[in-house]
Amino acid sequence: MKAGRDPEQVRLVAVSKTMPASDVREAIDAGQTVFGENYIQDAETKIKEIGTEGVTWHFIGHLQSNKAKVAAAHFDMVETVHSLKLGKELGKRAKALGKTLNVLAQINVGGEQQKAGVDPEAAEALVRSLLEVEGIRLKGLMTMPPFLSPEEVRPYFKRLRTLRDELVTKGIPKESLKELSMGMSGDFEVAIEEGATLVRVGTAIFGPRKVKQ
Ligand SMILES: *Cc1c(COP(=O)(O)O)cnc(C)c1O
Repeated sequence: MKAGRDPEQVRLVAVSKTMPASDVREAIDAGQTVFGENYIQDAETKIKEIGTEGVTWHFIGHLQSNKAKVAAAHFDMVETVHSLKLGKELGKRAKALGKTLNVLAQINVGGEQQKAGVDPEAAEALVRSLLEVEGIRLKGLMTMPPFLSPEEVRPYFKRLRTLRDELVTKGIPKESLKELSMGMSGDFEVAIEEGATLVRVGTAIFGPRKVKQ
C-alpha cells in the first residue's frame, strides 16, 4: 500500500445513500460488507429489505434524538454522535433492545458553522461523557472536513489524528479511540495516508447520486 499502512487497518464503508437495494446487493455479491447510510427513513426501508446477515450498517448522517430508536434498532454503528444528549438517547434505546451500539464522536475539525460535530477543543469533554453512557461503546472519532482539494484537506485529517493522540495522552483508553472515520470519494487516499481506519466512499463506488445529496 502506497501509504505504508497495513490494509487490514483500513475498512471501506460503502456509502449507499439514495442507491436502490439492488445496487447494495450487487456490492454485497462483490464482497463488500460495510455500508453507510445517512437518511434514516430510506435506510430503515433498505435495511429491512436487505437485512443484516453478513452486512454491517453505519449511520453517517445528521441524527435527531427523536430518531435514535430507529438508528439503534437497525445500525451497528452511529458515526455521527455530536452531543451527549444524542449519545444518551442512543444508549437508552440500545439498552432497551438488549444491544450495545458502537459510536464515534463527530468532530468539526474545520470549525464550519454549517457542519455538525463539536470543535476539537470540546472533544475531550464529549468523549469523556460518552464513555460514561451505558448502551453505547465509543470506538473513535469521525469528521467531515471542509470541502477542499485533497492536498488542502490533508491538514484537517492530520488534525483529527493528532487530536486522537492528544486524547490518549490525556488518559482516554486507546481502544475507545481506535477508529478514525475520515475521507470520501475525492480524498480517501490522503485520509488513509493520515491515519484513517474507516473511509466513507459513495460516488466512487456507486456512481453519481441522482436525487438529494
Ligand atoms: C455522502 C457522504 C459520503 C460519501 O461521499 P462521496 O463523495 O460520494 O464519496 C461520506 N460521508 C458522509 C458523511 C456522507 O454524507
